[in-house]
Amino acid sequence: MRTVQAGASARAEGPRCRACGTALSQTFADLGMSPLANSYLSPEKLSAPEIFYPLHVYVCDRCLLVQLEEFESPDTIFGDYAYFSSYSESWLEHARLYVERMIDRFGLDATTQVVELASNDGYLLRYFHDRGVPVLGVEPAANVAKVAIERGIPTEVRFFGRVTARELAARGVRPRLLLGNNVLAHVPDLNDFVGGMKELLVPDGIITMEFPHLMRLMAENQFDTIYHEHFSYFSFLTVEQVFARHGLTLFDVEELQTHGGSLRVYARHAENGSIRVEPHVGELRGRERAAGFDRLEHYLSFGEQVRRTKLALLDFMLTAKREGRSVVGYGAAAKGNTLLNYCGIGRDFIDYVVDRSPHKQGHFLPGTHVPICHPDRVAETRPQIMLILAWNLKDEIMGQMARIREWGGRFVVPIPEVAVYE
Ligand SMILES: [Zn+2]
Repeated sequence: MRTVQAGASARAEGPRCRACGTALSQTFADLGMSPLANSYLSPEKLSAPEIFYPLHVYVCDRCLLVQLEEFESPDTIFGDYAYFSSYSESWLEHARLYVERMIDRFGLDATTQVVELASNDGYLLRYFHDRGVPVLGVEPAANVAKVAIERGIPTEVRFFGRVTARELAARGVRPRLLLGNNVLAHVPDLNDFVGGMKELLVPDGIITMEFPHLMRLMAENQFDTIYHEHFSYFSFLTVEQVFARHGLTLFDVEELQTHGGSLRVYARHAENGSIRVEPHVGELRGRERAAGFDRLEHYLSFGEQVRRTKLALLDFMLTAKREGRSVVGYGAAAKGNTLLNYCGIGRDFIDYVVDRSPHKQGHFLPGTHVPICHPDRVAETRPQIMLILAWNLKDEIMGQMARIREWGGRFVVPIPEVAVYE
């Protein structure tokens, strides 16, 4: 689901805003040094050196875009991406419903083309393809693009930006719908990416983009969703400015529950007055202003909230260990790696984490080196505390793991604040 534009990462004179170019000096949250969150380690790599990068999030004092400085080249992060979208049932259903709605709302058919940026293994385009709508995917990770092509979904293996847009347009690619799910936040050269969409979209075309909503991140203290692949953290106000700079108008927005709370924005050419701006746009803009998203001070309070959460979690863990309790984790996801590295919670505290993905079992978490095991291990070791790192799935996990209550085990959820479920 992700793509990025390859770009230079070295900067001599300090970081600059990826939207407006202003020098960045205001800290949103400083999570210290952390390895890339998805770089799980095989047993042989445990004794090798590991690279840690600053996880320092800034807020631009001019345009208020919350963002991470870019340290690693996109090729390193995304070149052989391990995430196959088709593995998640709930995400597939999300995609299927989206496709049905787009076909109905915008009258897509055999005469209209759909282009998806960061099309992954073709899991979403497949639904358009099955309904007879011509599709094209653009996906930089060669290993996942290959799966799409084998399924009959035409896919360009490359990063998206103005150069790609011009080449595709020259070859006759004319998308009526241009979409990207969880890609905008991952783009280092934001202006090149949005500028490319402006160039590729037909005059009456529509863009939809989904990304995590900064208002939810802050309200629900989801600081663990900050990791090196997420370059930008958007409010509706900031994303609207970015699109407007490139002659694109946001005419509708939906608030979704995916990824802890996301926005789906709908854009059209500013020149295309035939599509009216829906009332929800003004309503959400007003709500963000009322919450302070148009003022720098609002953003500067978040760092302290994050530090307090760390102290509370460490307090809880220290007490648990002093009392001799065994602790394991659930979910070897990127967000857990941010949390554990930032809080300094490693094997002294957690015996192992379990995860259902066979690709992760037998590996170790980056930085903390906590081993990743099959969920069956829990019944063998009967831990007293299970720390749910994948808090977005906590109800599902508490259901699956309900048997830990047989031996008095308890669930603990760290976000938004430490909560114990007896
Ligand atoms: Zn800026």
